[in-house]
Amino acid sequence: MKKFLPLCAAMLILLSSFALAQDAQGQKGKPEPPYLGVHWARGVRPPNNASSSPDMTWHSGAIMPTAVTASIFWGTSWTTTNYKVTGVDSWYNGVGSSTYAATCDEYTGTNGQVTSTISYGGHFVDTTAAPSRAPKTSAILAEVCKVIPSPVSNGYYAVYVDTPRGHAGYCAWHSYGTCGGTPVQFAFFFNLDNDPGCDPQDTVTGHPQGLSALANVSGHELSEARTDPRGAGWYDSSGAENGDKCAWTFGSRDLTFSNGTIWKIQGNWSNRAYNASTGYPNSSGQDGCIDGGNFK
Ligand SMILES: [Zn+2]
Repeated sequence: MKKFLPLCAAMLILLSSFALAQDAQGQKGKPEPPYLGVHWARGVRPPNNASSSPDMTWHSGAIMPTAVTASIFWGTSWTTTNYKVTGVDSWYNGVGSSTYAATCDEYTGTNGQVTSTISYGGHFVDTTAAPSRAPKTSAILAEVCKVIPSPVSNGYYAVYVDTPRGHAGYCAWHSYGTCGGTPVQFAFFFNLDNDPGCDPQDTVTGHPQGLSALANVSGHELSEARTDPRGAGWYDSSGAENGDKCAWTFGSRDLTFSNGTIWKIQGNWSNRAYNASTGYPNSSGQDGCIDGGNFK
């Protein structure tokens, strides 16, 4: 455990599954990549020991100035024509240069400032069986390294499995590691079909429920990876990253991406907006959330 960041230690205590926590300690003396930015299901809350200011602080490390994304659909039921595969393609094709993406752009790190330059390399479908239960971070990292032909250090690889979350208390998470010596960022998403605990209750965009749910958590995790890719970026005194701090609160009715697609996505915490009282309130009533839309 001592090799873990405080952020992760705090979150691991809360991870309800004993097996998950045990896994995260590593089975062979090699620590698992940490779980970052766990997107808790509705009603499941991480510890909140935030003191005076709810603002996030920088932890002396890197952010993602740009992101090269790709998606991986892992599981026997996926096909390239599945509506969630094509829908997620639209999502990543449009998120770059969107006003939603710009909600992360105020943050800086050792390697510069976050920008909305986000490209998409398309999807990969792996029809081998995905883990039937909540996987270790190392299993998802191994999948990324197996499937992505040429990983890059500003890569963000989103792995969507076809298995439901079952008793796991979270919808998604992001983490980081290396593929053959190349640093990579990655994220994991359960199948959220008919899962009220991870449902944004989108009644405006017309997307099927399972796709709307993936779109919302995809925004949460990508935003967190861009601002805290490797655990030394931006989070608050309780370890909450920018997506966590606005989880399950929606400012605008819907958001239009740069390719014209429309989505319902939670906002992200902005220190700048909070300090200027220009954001919309999160679930604790702190008005630091922005989504790039006309929420006012
Ligand atoms: Zn999160």
